Amino acid sequence: MNLILLGPPGAGKGTQAKFLEDRCGVVQLSTGDMLRALVANGGPLGEQAKEIMTAGKLMPDALMVEMISERISRPDCAKGFILDGFPRTVPQAEALDLMLAEKGIRIDHVILMKVDDAALVERITGRFTCAKCGAGYHDSFQKPKTAGVCDVCGGSEFKRRADDNETTVKTRLAQYHAQTAPILPYYAKHGVLNTVDGMAEISEVTKQIEAVLAN
Ligand code: AMP
Repeated sequence: MNLILLGPPGAGKGTQAKFLEDRCGVVQLSTGDMLRALVANGGPLGEQAKEIMTAGKLMPDALMVEMISERISRPDCAKGFILDGFPRTVPQAEALDLMLAEKGIRIDHVILMKVDDAALVERITGRFTCAKCGAGYHDSFQKPKTAGVCDVCGGSEFKRRADDNETTVKTRLAQYHAQTAPILPYYAKHGVLNTVDGMAEISEVTKQIEAVLAN
């Protein structure tokens, strides 16, 4: 099963993708995670990615298409994948269609997680993860049971994304509306777009996604 999760930054795509990985045995392909790994490795491309991501802008389409094409060709994607953060522009969506057609792969579901803009800034600026196991938390909505200790692995170090600050979030949201939202009519026209309520509780969103997958 191959899926695309769409939605603004902070919609919960990563959270739901992790759940789907466990439930369906498919792999989460997060272009944001791939770029953060590139930044951590340094080098000229890492530097370029760091600059663009810190500004909340988008990386060039050609680079992103190449990155995802290479990733999808690896053996662990054979059982299926979830695209999280890609495509983010209409040219990326068009290139993805061509690339998948060449590889003989089809997308089974495109799921939009719809969330009000007003909720997103608070969601994003308050989120943090365990540095050891990656479990996700939030300053207001999902604190660790014991302050400073990860519920999942007992780790005591946490990290926040460099681009999860208010200024960058506003640019990222503006980019979403200008560049990514125009993808929605593209998929709607192809009859594959399903919408779930990303404002609902995490478990309720999961249920709504399961209902889409069951169809
Ligand atoms: P994310 O983790 O999906 O929120 O992505 C973090 C940042 O990585 C974005 O704000 C962009 O700067 C960059 N990025 C991730 N995916 C893409 C993509 N498909 N196209 C262009 N830039 C991307």
